[in-house]
Amino acid sequence: MASTRCTDRVVGAILASWRYDISGISPEMRKDYEQHFVECQHCRARQRFHRGLDVALAALTSTAVLFFLFALAVVHHIKPLEHVAFNIFGLDLGDMYEMLISAGFAGLCFSVIAFVLVLTATPAPTYLGGIAAERAKVLEEHLPDAIKSLRPR
Ligand SMILES: [Zn+2]
Repeated sequence: MASTRCTDRVVGAILASWRYDISGISPEMRKDYEQHFVECQHCRARQRFHRGLDVALAALTSTAVLFFLFALAVVHHIKPLEHVAFNIFGLDLGDMYEMLISAGFAGLCFSVIAFVLVLTATPAPTYLGGIAAERAKVLEEHLPDAIKSLRPR
């Protein structure tokens, strides 16, 4: 990636400031930038890198949401069993439980906010939607003709 250079510094700088996301601009303006992506290997690689990053962030934050949901479920489920252990170690069960629940909810709220921010601030949903649409098209092309004829056009 480092060995390549942008073929047009001005366009490259504009694209970099947008994190190589041109999905938000009007179609007639987009043409020039799409042309640049075709010509410029450097910007194409950077665009792929940034979209990969967006998808990784979305995956990470959604995993965090699931993790905290799971943690809350575990804390909730384990409460009666832990009663004995907490008594032996002399820990106050009520405080401990409240603390774990609060931590779980705080983590859940934080990860949900992070996930929403990733989805709204990055083109990850459009990007993933595009990939899904492409896959669907490929799948459809490989369907047997008997099934294809059943589908309305
Ligand atoms: Zn470029």
